[in-house]
Amino acid sequence: MFSYSGNDLYCEEVPLADLAARVGTPAFVYSAQCILDNYRAYDEAFGDLPHTVCYAVKANSSLGVLSLLARAGAGFDIVSGGELFRVLRAGGDPARVVFSGVGKTAAEVEYALSSGIHCFNCESEAELALVDSLAARLGMKAGFSIRVNPHVDAATHPYISTGLSQHKFGIEIAEAEAVYERSRAFGNLSAEGVSCHIGSQMLDPSPILEAVDKVMDLAARLRAAGHPVAHLDLGGGLGIAYRAGEKPPAIRAFVESLHQRLRVAGLRALVEPGRSIVGPAGVLLARVLYRKRNGRKEFVVVDAAMNDLIRPALYKAHHEILPVRRNTLPPVTADVVGPVCETGDFLARDRHMANVMPGDFLAVAAAGAYGFVLSSNYNSRPRAPEVLVEGARWRVIRRRESYQDLVRGEEV
Ligand SMILES: *Cc1c(COP(=O)(O)O)cnc(C)c1O
Repeated sequence: MFSYSGNDLYCEEVPLADLAARVGTPAFVYSAQCILDNYRAYDEAFGDLPHTVCYAVKANSSLGVLSLLARAGAGFDIVSGGELFRVLRAGGDPARVVFSGVGKTAAEVEYALSSGIHCFNCESEAELALVDSLAARLGMKAGFSIRVNPHVDAATHPYISTGLSQHKFGIEIAEAEAVYERSRAFGNLSAEGVSCHIGSQMLDPSPILEAVDKVMDLAARLRAAGHPVAHLDLGGGLGIAYRAGEKPPAIRAFVESLHQRLRVAGLRALVEPGRSIVGPAGVLLARVLYRKRNGRKEFVVVDAAMNDLIRPALYKAHHEILPVRRNTLPPVTADVVGPVCETGDFLARDRHMANVMPGDFLAVAAAGAYGFVLSSNYNSRPRAPEVLVEGARWRVIRRRESYQDLVRGEEV
């Protein structure tokens, strides 16, 4: 969805240089077609198996993106009351919402119950007790899954690996059966499913399959013991290509590799993909402000910074840096840095890249997931706008923040 025609980089049918000139930089640009293709790849690959694709809202929670997915029929995986608010505002169906997270507050649980969400993915017995008591107060039954920790190493960045016992997430799989047993004492809970999520940006899906096998075994034992368990929630975590040449698992092939297992299990499958739906669908546009050289090091100073895209600083993540208009100059090796007063403020280091000059635009690739949502106002920088491209049309789905926005809610 991002490709060159001649020397110009396009998003679908829109030349990014024109877009950057119109909306300014920095700016996030998303391809609607790419988002929908990725969502449909999940949805269609399940075929006739009962399933719900619950898009993980935290990857990109813009209303424009959520409403696109809601209209395509997606469910949603939320991790806060704020995300539920966004899903409802975007027209999402609460009956297709699952609520994950290790620290849900009473207010959030109450909001989710009264909105009629499908299921709570609970991470402790104390949380089960809270959901039960609030459901009792509202005179309703709450569906829950226990998020089990299956002891599988996702083999990804340590900050986004979640399936080992030293992590804060879930309940040990060996203890889960006893917890489901004790949950029978709660009058306002119903054991809808079993869930797990072992990590993110997995380039090898085999740990997910290993976790699925363990969770399936558990679900079978629970059903044999009379629990109503009707779904398996397999979490998210499929990786995407951040480096040119990286080969992430294809969505369709991954889902097809689950078919056999899911047919045997005879349960509805839920998946919670975030990054693999929106990640490849976005770029961050930046303008080159200056070129400078310190000793032997070459710098490209741009108007986007770590406050806009923190992944390089936070995870040492690699993002390809593409010239929005290709030139014929010999390439350079440079650091691409922003205006923020931190040495950690870089988008790329020692990068062999196009020899861009002040005024040129760059596109930071694969910035559709964990990009804008992790952005901040650090250094009192207004947050970037977000633009959704659909064919030859585009619209601003979040306007650029103003200085007034920066001080909203503050008092002298
Ligand atoms: C973050 C998260 C996801 C989405 O992960 P991706 O790697 O973006 O697919 C899904 N489920 C839970 C519980 C999460 O915390």
